[in-house]
Amino acid sequence: MRALLPDFLFSGGHVQAATALVVRDGEVLGVGKPPEGAEVIPMRGRALLPGLVAAHSHAFQRAIRGRTEHRSHARDDFWSWREAMYAAAERLTPDDLHAISKFCFLEMARAGITAVGEFHYLHRDASGKPYANPNELDLAVARAAQDAGLRVVLLRVAYARSGFRLPQNPRQKRFIEGSADEYLQNLDALSRQVPVGAAPHSVRACPAEWIRDIAAEAFRRGWPLHLHVSEQRAEVEQSQAEHGATPALVLERLGALRESTTAVHGVHLTAQDIAALGRARATVCACPTTERNLGDGVVRADLLLAAGARLCVGSDSEAQLSPLEDARQLEYHLRLLQEQRAVLDAEQGGVGGLGAKLYAIASEGGMRSLGLGGGALRPGEPADFIVVDLDDPSIAGCNGDDLMANAVFSMERTAIRETWVNGEPLRLDFEGALPGFRAAMRRLWG
Ligand SMILES: [Zn+2]
Repeated sequence: MRALLPDFLFSGGHVQAATALVVRDGEVLGVGKPPEGAEVIPMRGRALLPGLVAAHSHAFQRAIRGRTEHRSHARDDFWSWREAMYAAAERLTPDDLHAISKFCFLEMARAGITAVGEFHYLHRDASGKPYANPNELDLAVARAAQDAGLRVVLLRVAYARSGFRLPQNPRQKRFIEGSADEYLQNLDALSRQVPVGAAPHSVRACPAEWIRDIAAEAFRRGWPLHLHVSEQRAEVEQSQAEHGATPALVLERLGALRESTTAVHGVHLTAQDIAALGRARATVCACPTTERNLGDGVVRADLLLAAGARLCVGSDSEAQLSPLEDARQLEYHLRLLQEQRAVLDAEQGGVGGLGAKLYAIASEGGMRSLGLGGGALRPGEPADFIVVDLDDPSIAGCNGDDLMANAVFSMERTAIRETWVNGEPLRLDFEGALPGFRAAMRRLWG
């Protein structure tokens, strides 16, 4: 049993001074005075904050970073990005995937991420045939997360088609499986090896029956259910053409919207969509750094929260790995849209209130979305946290009142000195991971 004694501890949504975090067997045993017999570890000049969560990640896309920031068509919405993504997806071997994902997960850990929801859609070999073990690639990614020390939930993706009345796209042949039954068999086998969630890719890529059957099985098994929802306008238009309704309302009609459902992106939502998500108490996973990178649009976090929906954040394309950047952009995008400040501070929560609220979205919100629970360092929750240097120039001079506002709006990654998962500090072995990562990148791009 260890009692960590920092200057400040953010636990249960409150900043507490001179309070110990007592850790045993990977869990928070208590918060308060160090108990008799505990090994007391003084952490002067440090704050302990809950671990951050990337609830929506495609780790292999780390390989296309820097290769998509140019125009390849007169009007470039998605083209350059998708071209680079397919080029990587078509050529990765299981070993490449492991090396790239591991490097990405290490970078996540350095950014204070302790848990990741890996929305993984590469399943088959380069010719489109299943591997001898149909979960070969899923397991390579899960192993990479475990090697890096992160908690992982493998959100195994079901992908049936390019879209409504669209011909199959040969560049997606590694994504596609034969039926919802085949998908569910593979997911069941995977669930015996790693924590999983069910993830019908989207209303575009899955017909209604797939979504209905997979959602029903996810609810029966207690798995989280994740789907891309209304990321781009074209997806909403396709849904209208096929179903006469928007993706969120199709999900509601299919019985797929519940508290354990996470709608990823939720950028182009109507007032009715927002009401449906709120009624279900579903989560919307915003990925603001990716959404602005891709030019998707702005998540109406204010309207979603007011309707009763929950929020979390995801790193998605891995263009940047900083959940705090995601949390602050959630607010900043609304400021630009509405020409107002502190838009999400509807409760007028005082100096540190908005910071604490946004931080909880990036920590507790993600743990809830992944079905893991915790994320607030309350007794009984996983001991996943970051150690922050209060003298880092980006936040130096802060006190207990403004700590969380500093943490979300100003803190640089240099302030994050350690990342702990399951009650132990992670050793971030970038040197060990670099040769494999470099070799994989050379095979992809020369
Ligand atoms: Zn995504």
